[in-house]
Amino acid sequence: MFAIILCSGCGNPRMIDLASTASSCPRCGKSVEHSRAKLHLRSDDQGELRAAMWSLHSTPEFIEGREPKKPTSTDPILKLQRDFERIADPEERLAHVADVLCAPGGHFSKEDVRNVFPETFEDLVKGMLELGIVFEPRAGRYQRI
Ligand SMILES: [Zn+2]
Repeated sequence: MFAIILCSGCGNPRMIDLASTASSCPRCGKSVEHSRAKLHLRSDDQGELRAAMWSLHSTPEFIEGREPKKPTSTDPILKLQRDFERIADPEERLAHVADVLCAPGGHFSKEDVRNVFPETFEDLVKGMLELGIVFEPRAGRYQRI
C-alpha cells in the first residue's frame, strides 16, 4: 500500500511506501515516521497516486495548514542569499555574487557586499580578489574582471 503525505519540512506532497516505517523527503531531506504522518490518499496503485499528486499540487484544500515557504517578496538581497546557498562551487558562487552586485552600476563596494552577507563580506571580497573574479580600480570599489 502506498500513500500521499505532505512533507512536514517543506510542504511538498510526496508518495510513501507504507510497507516501510519511515522515509525522507527527496526535496528537503526531512525524515518522517509513516505511523505519525497524515495520510491524504492511499492506494495500491502508484500510478494513480502519482497522477493525483500532480493535481493536488495546485489544490488549496490539500495544502491547507502547510507553512508558507514562498518568499514574501522578490527582494534581490534575499534572492542573492538563496542563490549563494544553492551554488555549490565556491568560485562560481563568488562570480555570481560579483555579477549580481555589478549589474546596477558596473561596480560595487564592500558596503554592498555587507548588505547581503553581513557576517562574511570581508572573506567574500578577499576571495573574489584572490580568485581574480574582481579587481579594485579604486580603493573600496570593485569591478568584475
Ligand atoms: Zn520536504
